[in-house]
Amino acid sequence: MQDNKLYFETLHSGYGQYFEIDKVLFEQKTSQWHLSIFENARFGRVMALNGAIQTTEADEFVYHEMLTHVPVLAHGRVKSLLIIGGGDGGMLREVVKHRGIERIVMVEIDGAVVDMCKTWLPNHSAGAYDDPRVELVIADGIDFVASCNERFDVIISDCTDPVGPGEVLFSSDFYAGCKRCLNENGIFVAQNGVPFMQVESLQDTVRRMSTYTRECWFYMAAVPTYIGGAMAFAWATDNPEARKLDLATLEARFNEAGISTRYYTPALHQASFALPKYVEQAIRSA
Ligand code: SAM
Repeated sequence: MQDNKLYFETLHSGYGQYFEIDKVLFEQKTSQWHLSIFENARFGRVMALNGAIQTTEADEFVYHEMLTHVPVLAHGRVKSLLIIGGGDGGMLREVVKHRGIERIVMVEIDGAVVDMCKTWLPNHSAGAYDDPRVELVIADGIDFVASCNERFDVIISDCTDPVGPGEVLFSSDFYAGCKRCLNENGIFVAQNGVPFMQVESLQDTVRRMSTYTRECWFYMAAVPTYIGGAMAFAWATDNPEARKLDLATLEARFNEAGISTRYYTPALHQASFALPKYVEQAIRSA
């Protein structure tokens, strides 16, 4: 990578995006990844792992708010929450906003991602690692959920795409592990790619997760740097009522939580479960 050159993302074959690299801030081979962080005039600081854009300062709020506040407010009484992945710290920042959560465990495979993002993307974690409710574990998420003795009300899989170390976080074994770590009526959510580009990944999740939970559905939001359309978030729970809450209930919970957001609103929360027909069809035919 070099200043004033272009960074081409290599996630999808035959289609992609590029960013102008105004300034290279950090580049290193870590235990798991080729980690790059650079400055771009439009998106601010951008972080990529192995050629795939992970997060940017400009649009991360959409992704992190939707993966946090939707399950937490839908559940309504979250005391314990597990994040798998999430090394940039943005998910943790949103989770710690919920004062009612007593215990937060984050399991990240690569400690270097956490350290480098604390240094180069400080607004992502915004001090959340110092919250006394937080425990950071450096381990593979699939091993953690297979052996942990704790149960959680919400599990958020903030993972990379299903290639490399992130692949196991889309496996049947991982979903089985998450199910065993969920309290009764707990909720599992996960980034599940952009269905227009990665429909097989969506269908794999439906087939695999449906073995373990009564309901496996998706909700969506458009995150500009995850190109090719709106992103799907997997939603799995034994409590089908959790995604059918009326607006008044969601508004009451949101107001009571007293958190400030830039993307999330209770009305958007409700609307995000209404899926385009081609996505519904992909789910039903999985
Ligand atoms: N928002 C991003 C996206 O959609 O591309 C994901 C960002 S977050 C940086 C992904 C994190 O998952 C990375 O820090 C990566 O190290 C971590 N990760 C990947 N595979 C993992 C695994 N098997 N166990 C735990 N963490 C993992």
